[in-house]
Amino acid sequence: MAMDNQYVMHTYGRLPIVLVRGEGCFVYDADGKKYLDLVAGIAVNGLGHCPPKVVEAICKQAGTLMHTSNLYHTVPQPQLAKMLVEISGMSKAFFCNSGAEANEAAMKLARKATKINGKPEQTEIITAEKSFHGRTLAAITATGQPKYQKSFAPLPPDYRYVPYNDVEALKSMVSEKTCAIMMEPVQGESGVHPANIEFLQTARKLCDKFGAALIFDEVQTGLGRTGKMFGFQNFDVIPDIMTLAKTLGGGFPIGACLAKDKYADVFEPGDHAATFGGNPLACAAAIATVTEIIDGGWVENTQKVGEYFREQLATLPGVTEVRGLGLMIAAEFNDPVARDIASKALDKGLLINAIGDNILRFVPPLILTRENVDQAISILMECI
Ligand code: PLP
Repeated sequence: MAMDNQYVMHTYGRLPIVLVRGEGCFVYDADGKKYLDLVAGIAVNGLGHCPPKVVEAICKQAGTLMHTSNLYHTVPQPQLAKMLVEISGMSKAFFCNSGAEANEAAMKLARKATKINGKPEQTEIITAEKSFHGRTLAAITATGQPKYQKSFAPLPPDYRYVPYNDVEALKSMVSEKTCAIMMEPVQGESGVHPANIEFLQTARKLCDKFGAALIFDEVQTGLGRTGKMFGFQNFDVIPDIMTLAKTLGGGFPIGACLAKDKYADVFEPGDHAATFGGNPLACAAAIATVTEIIDGGWVENTQKVGEYFREQLATLPGVTEVRGLGLMIAAEFNDPVARDIASKALDKGLLINAIGDNILRFVPPLILTRENVDQAISILMECI
């Protein structure tokens, strides 16, 4: 911890434990203490820690071919693209290394699409207030939270923010100038707020009317988290462009931007790139992860265990609201107790995430069991 303090930039407010090992839904610190992990790398470790099939795929690929330039074809990249296209209904994929990068790709794609369409003045990107899209300069600009933007002006122009789920505000904001509407199907970082169907359906209709792209940021909601393979499947609204990261690599960094129909062929050689994007190692990890999510029935598990978890959370004293879909859950308290509960839970061997003063967020592995939920609830009860 002292070395971290001296040599690593202080971009994170870290908790005072050093994690050294993980297995399934549990992690262990340097003193050998065991924690039930309901943070899961913030919705990354969908299959838990060190899932054997993903470890095996990574080891095998690491000894075969880790990286080559995207100037050459490799085997795992198109295999992963085919797999994602087939399960999502999108048409083509671009690979990168993180959620923010995937969103950058999506926004560049939308901007170029309007130019190809002969509408270069169609540049505005509409996102939601309280959204979160990542930390690059364009991604913090898309993120409708001034606290993430304030130290980094000037920001890229032509972004506008609509109150999430406000259908009338969305209708009055979209115009001939709109290039894209970008939304999370469930807002994660700001406290787990699911979209309402009418809001997303209106976004779809407005994009169709004005020739704008509908982008869903599924970096957190994608790949089973909401109890469906993709968040958009809860709302019956199909985007033109969709971004993935987090769960995709089972803990290995990889992001993807998927695009449908005419949007799939907008980028040409030279338009966009990432040196590491879609390298064989990352793609092998992602292929193994997605295969196991499907074969293991973990999306269905997420739905069932998520429902049970939400029911149990609602019984805790002081909880005023439980929100979320699948295993993307928030519990809101009537008093500012969230940080205290999270810190007491840490002492008792439970990792949870406080958002602000009143909200606890739970984004555990999709392999969570009812027994894990019971253990978490009993620790939470003690903490409360
Ligand atoms: N989009 C959403 C919805 C997220 O939740 C996050 C991260 O929390 C990001 C984008 C950024 O992803 P990354 O940190 O991999 O850049």
